[in-house]
Amino acid sequence: MLPFADLLRRRLNSLLPAELEPHERLKLLIPFHHSLLVSRHRAGLIVDRVRLFALLFALLTPLWAVVDLIVFPYPLWSQLLGLRLVVCLAFFSLLLFYRERGRMTDAYLAMFILFAIPTLFYVSSHTLLAHYELVDMPAAVAAGYAFLPFVLMAGLALFPLTLLENLLIAMVLLLAQAVAGYLNWSTLNWPSFVGAFWLLILIAGVTGLACMSQLAFMMALLRQAIRDDLTGVFSRNSGEEILQVQWNTSLRNNSALSLAFIDLDHFKQINDTFGHATGDDALRAASLHIQDCMRSSDSLVRWGGEEFLLIMPDTDMTRARQALERLQATGLGQRPDGTPLTASIGLAERYFDHIEVPQQLLTLADKRMYKAKAAGRNCICAL
Ligand code: GH3
Ligand code: MG
Ligand code: MG
Repeated sequence: MLPFADLLRRRLNSLLPAELEPHERLKLLIPFHHSLLVSRHRAGLIVDRVRLFALLFALLTPLWAVVDLIVFPYPLWSQLLGLRLVVCLAFFSLLLFYRERGRMTDAYLAMFILFAIPTLFYVSSHTLLAHYELVDMPAAVAAGYAFLPFVLMAGLALFPLTLLENLLIAMVLLLAQAVAGYLNWSTLNWPSFVGAFWLLILIAGVTGLACMSQLAFMMALLRQAIRDDLTGVFSRNSGEEILQVQWNTSLRNNSALSLAFIDLDHFKQINDTFGHATGDDALRAASLHIQDCMRSSDSLVRWGGEEFLLIMPDTDMTRARQALERLQATGLGQRPDGTPLTASIGLAERYFDHIEVPQQLLTLADKRMYKAKAAGRNCICAL
């Protein structure tokens, strides 16, 4: 029995996206633990996909008017044409004018507008069609109008969403379908309605998997792009992006923002005496020690060879200093000869130093790090 259970566990494990680390898997289910950069890139990707969707719909919606013109009587086709032109305009406006500032709320709103436009079209076109007794070909084309919920549900698969987000949106679409059924209660063809509803649930299940796999790929690619290979902390490029984002947030919220420039002392000696590989080990250990000391909202960046940036949002000069003193007290690990590995740290804060732009914060922290070196190393300079 036990080997069977083990085999089952291994098989189930292999079904999970292999490109994700085990601790990242929860992030496929709920959106609450995503890092700043994941949220930013996801928001950008979702809005890009919304624009793609909007472009397709903006082009296809008026084209179908040709079919309406051929099969439907006047004035039905002209009324539908009017509706289609309004929808086309709405999609083009979404494509051209919707602005996104890297926040998930922007992405949710874009998706809401994207789905609201065809839903309103669906309701209005149904109301129009209900006024006509259609048979044969016109009736067949009119029945095609009922496919829109399926198109929307399947279209969800384009977005990198967590399971929870996917379930919520799918539930809204299913609820809309149920309400539509309830409103047409008297004339409803029950077997076909239940069949269609079941199909919609099946499509929702498939899109749920598709959305999570999109998210998994996005997170894995992003991790490769934003992390430094050796230490696993943020690379310099993503560090610049994080600094800019945290700067904007601190301006918006009128909150503190501290930045520490950490340069390991006499690091070249380690390489020269014990070899590059030993140096690499020391670098990895030092980055782990810094991570142990910092808060989850802080970001550690490998700025250069043996230089790190610690970005500390919502942290004033006093508290940043305390955090760095704690780091100094616990240490950055040992040098291969058993002596402690130390660092010279330059610290700057937006308010305290009357900083105007993020680059200035960086330059000042760097300058103070050199002052710390000149003062004998293994110390923090904040003035
Ligand atoms: P100081 O106290 O003045 O900062 O002295 P230092 O030796 O730390 O500074 P210096 O700028 O002279 O040398 C930095 C050294 O860091 C040189 C380089 O060999 C080493 N280094 C940079 N990147 C890496 C890396 O990825 N792996 C290893 N092993 N060493 C690196
Ligand atoms: Mg250096
Ligand atoms: Mg150094």
